[in-house]
Amino acid sequence: AVPLVVAITTSLAAKRGILIRNRQAFETLKDIKAICFDKTGTITEGKLAVHKVIAIDDETTLLRYVASIEQNSEHIIAQSIVEYAKSKGVEPKKAENFTAYPGIGAKAIIDGEPVMVGGPQLLSKESLKLPEKLKPYEKIESTKVWIAVNGKVIGVILLTDTIRKTSIEAIKMLKELGIETWMLTGDNDEVAKEVAKECGIDNYQANLLPDEKLNIIKEIHNQGKVVAMVGDGINDAPSLLTADIGIAIGAGTDIAIDSADIILTKSDLLSVVHAIRLSRAAYRKMV
Ligand code: ADP
Ligand code: MG
Repeated sequence: AVPLVVAITTSLAAKRGILIRNRQAFETLKDIKAICFDKTGTITEGKLAVHKVIAIDDETTLLRYVASIEQNSEHIIAQSIVEYAKSKGVEPKKAENFTAYPGIGAKAIIDGEPVMVGGPQLLSKESLKLPEKLKPYEKIESTKVWIAVNGKVIGVILLTDTIRKTSIEAIKMLKELGIETWMLTGDNDEVAKEVAKECGIDNYQANLLPDEKLNIIKEIHNQGKVVAMVGDGINDAPSLLTADIGIAIGAGTDIAIDSADIILTKSDLLSVVHAIRLSRAAYRKMV
């Protein structure tokens, strides 16, 4: 495009909360056919409030174990849980050998005991069996964090998130532009289904690991569609790099931002719609 058009586009974009890091990807955006969104922190606000703690034995002990691990995690779920535990007067302990599993959870040694925390993938990955008391919570429509000590599940924390109003509007507009919409999430199927319904998204896939998100993006791309991915987490980084256009939420993790072509400084999905319009306006019939 003409340098003047480029300069004008950049400043218009900035005003709309769009930071362009890769001009080539921004130009490609004019041909977009499909768009994939992460759920937590992208479609939703990512402010997860703890609404219930179910412990097999003592709740304080459970909260101490979880907070001790989660104070080392950068996942937004982890931060909410630590805050909640502290508000209940629980002081986290030092965790040894902390290891994070993106899209799954984390593990560490606390008080000499091996402790694991995480979502739906944790249960299957570690072949954990649920005690009778916890079974009714498996299918509940909440984001869940399971806690296991010494290979035994000792409780679950239920959390709720809020869909950003602008996400619903943005998805509607994207569909009106004839763009196929997807939600790709590491969260459980019950929550995914509900969020997909509320925001009117066409397709969704739940329980996804980072590589599985990436493979769906590849599949869409291989169908000959220009595909964009919008995400905020460590678990989205591989998909952001693979998509034709990687778009990160400005308030997201550093690794997501570093992996993206475009950054949404206002963390507002309507900026995606503006970005597509700007790309189409800037590169239409240009020589
Ligand atoms: P999304 O794709 O919707 O943004 P993530 O892939 O970040 O979700 O997380 C998927 C699931 O993995 C979460 O819903 C949560 O249950 C679990 N999880 C990931 N990291 C952690 C953690 N540090 N602590 C607890 N649970 C976690
Ligand atoms: Mg996320």
